[in-house]
Amino acid sequence: MSEFKNFERCALCGQQTRFGPHVYEGRPIPLWNVFLCNICDSSNHDGIVPHMHPKFIGELKASGAPMMLNEDGFLKIPPRYATGSSY
Ligand SMILES: [Zn+2]
Repeated sequence: MSEFKNFERCALCGQQTRFGPHVYEGRPIPLWNVFLCNICDSSNHDGIVPHMHPKFIGELKASGAPMMLNEDGFLKIPPRYATGSSY
């Protein structure tokens, strides 16, 4: 019987996501200054495929956010407590 007041919009899929209290359906990525829902976070755990998300990649580039590619050329999602440019 709780009414959620805290919502964040996932930067990848655009879904409104409940973010507390008690229910956390995603996490903030401070390094990118964005929020990702758990579904996008887990389904891209091995990297975000750039050509699948050109708008997101473009916005990150425009913001000057640190971006690291893995060996497959996919964009690595910064771990929870990453703060530096080489996460
Ligand atoms: Zn999402």
